[in-house]
Amino acid sequence: MFSGNEGELPVNTGSKPDISREKSAELFEKAKNYFPGGVNSPVRAFKSVHGTPLFIQKGDGCFVWDADGNQFIDFCGSWGPLILGHNHAKVREKVTEVMQNGMSFGAPTALENELAELIIKNNKFVEKIRFTSSGTEAVMSAIRLARGYTGRDKIIKFEGCYHGHSDSLLVKAGSGLVTFGETSSAGVPKAFAQETIVLPLNDTAALEQAFAQFKDQVAAVIIEGIPANNGLLMQEASYVEFLQRICKENGALLIFDEVITGFRLGFEGAAAYYGVKPDIVTYGKIIGGGLPVGMYGASAEIMNHISPDGGVYQAGTLSGNPVAMAAGIAQLTELLRSGFYKDLNNKTSEFAESIQRFATARNYKVRVFYVGSIFWIAFTDREKIQAADDIEHSSMEKFKVMHRELLNRGIYLGPSGYEVGFVSAAHTKIELEKTKRAIFDSLDVVFRNK
Ligand SMILES: *Cc1c(COP(=O)(O)O)cnc(C)c1O
Repeated sequence: MFSGNEGELPVNTGSKPDISREKSAELFEKAKNYFPGGVNSPVRAFKSVHGTPLFIQKGDGCFVWDADGNQFIDFCGSWGPLILGHNHAKVREKVTEVMQNGMSFGAPTALENELAELIIKNNKFVEKIRFTSSGTEAVMSAIRLARGYTGRDKIIKFEGCYHGHSDSLLVKAGSGLVTFGETSSAGVPKAFAQETIVLPLNDTAALEQAFAQFKDQVAAVIIEGIPANNGLLMQEASYVEFLQRICKENGALLIFDEVITGFRLGFEGAAAYYGVKPDIVTYGKIIGGGLPVGMYGASAEIMNHISPDGGVYQAGTLSGNPVAMAAGIAQLTELLRSGFYKDLNNKTSEFAESIQRFATARNYKVRVFYVGSIFWIAFTDREKIQAADDIEHSSMEKFKVMHRELLNRGIYLGPSGYEVGFVSAAHTKIELEKTKRAIFDSLDVVFRNK
């Protein structure tokens, strides 16, 4: 264990040679013939970091192995779902057992009840839920529900929050303080963007102005439980309470998109962390134990507006898929064990604080932000980063160097400096110590190279 004297470590003198990537590079060349950019989701293409994507062959515990046989300690965790680590025995066994009976029926199964009961009994923020097959689908449906419930069309979202790739949410801030959004993707009709108002985070005046300007038109305000898709933008409790208040005063619903933070900050996610009850909440990632599951939920009164009980249509051929439910049941059951989050969160804070102490001792412009088992290493000297505009884009050049140095030292972080890292229950002290060493050495290289 380090004890606050990290600054006294000898300075690492140089870059490590690149790992061999022949097989991954070959697979990537092939993939480019089949998929745009060679990938099935854009960030995987390694556009923001050095080199080409690693093709992963196997994962176990906190480790992954690529096609060239390189082993890494993984902090991407499939972008969040793998809170127990890769290939967890309990999840694998449950999935394997359920698969023996067939993969999909398009009819109800007891497994859906079982996962729903696990969630609803242990979460005071939802009374009724609906399973979907992805986070995007859950959020898209939550937005439709809010519009159907309120009979209003406009939604307010925040710059720096990601809510999946549905049309209404691929919208970024236009110019001016309170404006309609501009589409952030080709193919999204301007008319859709006009229904989405995009505001800066952590700015109460902007919200007051938007609600005044669009009186009785706003169906919902949507925010990530804690924004964690564009850096880790910690919000003050007072701001989150303000969101709840202003929504209530204006007859709008508050939606927490907890696709990352749900079951991550604790079983009840950011809602419990802040002690603020959202009107609708969305989950994804962890809920499916590594298989495709999303969910939205609310009070019974709101959820009764969903078809077939109500007029808001939403459906899915593979929704509530038994194999996916099995993975969710097995994973969430582990999370409910007493002390699970306490251990995981303590491990993460020790890890993050230790990196911070090292950087501070060396006078490196680095801040390690963390909450629960989420961490984000930012190349900044700001005490707080709470809005998208607080992030210096030029600082990402430093992330690029760190990312390469870390890969060459056997540490896998998501391939973008805007992405957070995740500690899992499978990371032990040994791997976290190894990782800290690798980060210290990589930071030495980053700041010598600048
Ligand atoms: C990942 C994510 C989504 C989208 O989920 P997918 O399963 O990728 O469709 C939506 N909202 C948030 C907050 C997310 O992190």
